[in-house]
Amino acid sequence: MRSSHYHLIVVGAGVLGSFHAYHACKKGLKVLLLEKDLQPQEATVRNFGQVVPSGMRRDKWQQYGRRSLEIYKSLQTKFDISVRQQGSVYIASDETELTLIHELRDINRKDGYPSMLLKQQDCLEKYPGLKESYCKGALFFPEEITVEPGKMIHCLIALMQEQLSLTYQPNTLISFCDFVNGKCIAEDNLGKAYTSDKVIICNGRDFRNLYPQIFYESDIEVSKLQMMRTVPQPGYLLKGSILTGLSIRRYESFQECPSYQALKAGEIDERFKKWGVHILFKQATDGSIIIGDSHEYAGAKEQDKLGFEVNQEINTVILEEAKRIFDLPDWRMAAYWNGYYGQSKDHDVFKKEVATNIHVITAIGGKGMTGSAGLAEETIKEIYG
Ligand SMILES: Cc1cc2nc3c(=O)[nH]c(=O)nc-3n(C[C@H](O)[C@H](O)[C@H](O)COP(=O)(O)OP(=O)(O)OC[C@H]3O[C@@H](n4cnc5c(N)ncnc54)[C@H](O)[C@@H]3O)c2cc1C
Repeated sequence: MRSSHYHLIVVGAGVLGSFHAYHACKKGLKVLLLEKDLQPQEATVRNFGQVVPSGMRRDKWQQYGRRSLEIYKSLQTKFDISVRQQGSVYIASDETELTLIHELRDINRKDGYPSMLLKQQDCLEKYPGLKESYCKGALFFPEEITVEPGKMIHCLIALMQEQLSLTYQPNTLISFCDFVNGKCIAEDNLGKAYTSDKVIICNGRDFRNLYPQIFYESDIEVSKLQMMRTVPQPGYLLKGSILTGLSIRRYESFQECPSYQALKAGEIDERFKKWGVHILFKQATDGSIIIGDSHEYAGAKEQDKLGFEVNQEINTVILEEAKRIFDLPDWRMAAYWNGYYGQSKDHDVFKKEVATNIHVITAIGGKGMTGSAGLAEETIKEIYG
């Protein structure tokens, strides 16, 4: 009979857990991936699917992001996981933002990370509907990709099952996990036990079921983001990830630019500050445009305070600004939703060995679709050598 003891159990089949499973499988380990829901339905499927290392600090996360790009692209050659290489663009709306994109281009050039400046006219031609009154110029990253969040994770798991002997079990909530008598035991809420040499827990923002005390005492906070998607726009093509002036003010890569302080000191609409709004666009493969987002925060223990409602005032702020940037053929909305993710206040990610051979890795914040593949590769190397 085949032994049901695994080398590694991964708890949580979001992008972070799934890429840990992927790198472990590639090492030839016998891996069990457990997911509490019928299919992953948290941040991993609620996002834009923008893979944008360009927005991240060069010293660390940009490196994970750049490695992730290589991993995604190489996977796509073997199996359709919905990768499209159409680049990312940061559109500047005023002189200060324009200065910053020039400075970031110079920084990237030194690092050997390809980027190119686009003049206003180039942008208007490349991005139909972009408003001349908004766009002063842009910085374009040709290597960057998008994925379809609703598809990528399922394809990745299917690929691992078909080609890497992964055992995947959804609908399995792990409610107990410990190292007992020389092995790890993970028990589900129906009392079924699974054993392994090691466990990696990538539980996203579910802090109630495993080691709650550790999370409640941590510096993790949860962010709630509002998103919307238009109806499909037949005949209209908006390529790649579109990031705009407020993203230039928000993303950490720009903080290294010499003129960043001037940008920070500049006035922005109080409503953007209050709701943490910046405007991103991405066209899905069905032709609809995903637009967002906003940020509201609460501590890990109090995340329920963020509520389940979509706040119409926030959507109005997002849409007003979005309409200042683009003139879309059809502004009717097909869907609105909220996404939530955990983020460590003082660290880029929460990593801790919570018991012998049991590692928690979560709270990757807004970087998960970009950084997880690279980060997980490093973690698996750290744990297994
Ligand atoms: C609206 C929005 C837009 C975003 N846009 C982008 C973007 O464009 N680019 C980008 O790089 N990042 C983006 N992000 C961030 C990115 O989506 C997250 O960083 C990433 O999805 C986090 O992945 P995760 O695997 O850590 O968590 P999750 O996606 O939350 O996955 C955790 C999984 O673990 C499961 N789980 C938890 N506890 C248990 C348990 N005890 N037993 C079994 N299963 C369990 C959960 O059910 C869940 O499926 C965005 C996030 C949001 C919310």
